[in-house]
Order: sequence, then C-alpha cells, then structure tokens
Amino acid sequence: MKKRYLKRENLWNAKVCSSHSCTWTTILNAREWVVSKLSYVIFEGKSINLWYDPWINRKSLMQRLGRISYDWGPPLDTTVSASLRNGKWTKLVRAPVDFDPIWEEIQHLEVGGRGEDILIWYPSKTGNLGLSEAWKAVRCRGTSFPWIKWIWQPIQTPKHSFCAWQAFHDKLSTLSRLQSKGLIQNSVCPLCSSDREDVDHLLLGCSYSRFIWSLLFRELLIRIAPPYNLAAFPHWLAFVRGQLLRSSMLQKFQKIKKLQNFLVCS
Ligand SMILES: [Zn+2]
Repeated sequence: MKKRYLKRENLWNAKVCSSHSCTWTTILNAREWVVSKLSYVIFEGKSINLWYDPWINRKSLMQRLGRISYDWGPPLDTTVSASLRNGKWTKLVRAPVDFDPIWEEIQHLEVGGRGEDILIWYPSKTGNLGLSEAWKAVRCRGTSFPWIKWIWQPIQTPKHSFCAWQAFHDKLSTLSRLQSKGLIQNSVCPLCSSDREDVDHLLLGCSYSRFIWSLLFRELLIRIAPPYNLAAFPHWLAFVRGQLLRSSMLQKFQKIKKLQNFLVCS
C-alpha cells in the first residue's frame, strides 16, 4: 500500500481521493483516531518527519502552523534529527506566523539520546501497532447475554446449542412467526389450543411444556416454577443454580448437569 499510495506523500499528509480503494480510504479516515492513541518517544529523531509526523503532543508541525511554505525552513522530507544537536533542540523553522508558542512546546519535549525512535500504541500491551491489535481496538463488541455461557459449552451437542440460541433470539419457526410471514393462517398452539404458539408459549407457557418442566423439577427437587417468558428465564436459572449450589457437592454436580442437559436438549 505504501508503494502504491504513498509514492511522494507522507501517510499523515495524504489526502483522501475518490479513486482510492475502500480499504485505503478507511485507513486514511482513521488517522485522527489512531493519533489519539499513540505517542512518540524521540531518541535521535531519524524516523520522524519534521513537518508531517504528529510528534508534537500528537500534532504535526504542519497542523500546528496551519500550512507550510517552502521558505519557512528545511525540505519537506527532513527528519526531526536535523533539529537536534547533542540532544538539544535547534530552531530550524522560520515560519512568519507566531511560531514561539510551538517552539516553547518543542523545547519541553523529552529527548532520549542515542537510539531508535519509538512509537507507542497505547491499546496494545506491547505498545506495537499490528493488524490484530488495531482490530481489537476498533471492533464493536456485541451485547453479552446472560445465557451465553451455559448454551455454548463443549459438552453440548452443537445442534442443541444452536436451537437454544435461536430460541433466545426468537428465531425459531414457531406458528406465530410463520403466520407473520404469511405462510400459514392459524397460529393457535396445537398442543393446548388455548393461545398463540410463540417462543415463550412453546417453551414456557404451554400447559404441555409446564407438565414437562414439572417432571424435571420433581426429579431435581426444585420447587420454584419457571417464568412464562424466555427473557426472564436466565435470571430464574441463575437463582435456581444458586439454590442447587447450596446442596451437597455430589448432588449439586448431578443436578446442574441434568438441568443444563435438559434445557439445551429440550
Ligand atoms: Zn400450548
């Protein structure tokens, strides 16, 4: 990309163009965000462009001056090293604007002495900016649901886990969903004929489902009936698990496993 898009320009000064690829345009548009999370540690200044790199408290000299004129100082490819003499700052820029505040700021920048300059990327533990670290920093994490941990477990059959996942996202092909898509006319539950068959009714509200639950709870000695809607189910499950954890270790293990297997398989 550098060879293709940055033949004569600096990354920080490159302009967004409609002929650029989507990837390159996205990178250029992310520069301001990237700069807000990095910092230069200046040693000899040989790898830092004097005019374009954001080495003055996350701003470049060009940004601070507003523009650049060729008679203001050294060529545009000059590095910060040209402004350092034995670890001390030397004034090279002759900008006809108010350069004094910027120069004052530069003089307060720490210089590390001999060695290569370091660019620190704060979101990374190592300080290095790589693709994986950048992705971790920009990605939008999805909402975390309380039922995720007990659905997605290595011991569960993937098909059952997926079915449970569909249920919690209300994506099961219940009669009410099929009716909403115009595929069927009647969505009355064929098991009890007393209500519409949606995911809450099918798994928790139907008299047939409640009968199945009661058989399980009798086995597990659980006396707390489940809720009638799936959204409240994880909270109920957490409460029941707490109850089970108070029983003996062996019973606890067996009951929790039975409950989890039943919930995912049912
Ligand atoms: Zn029913």
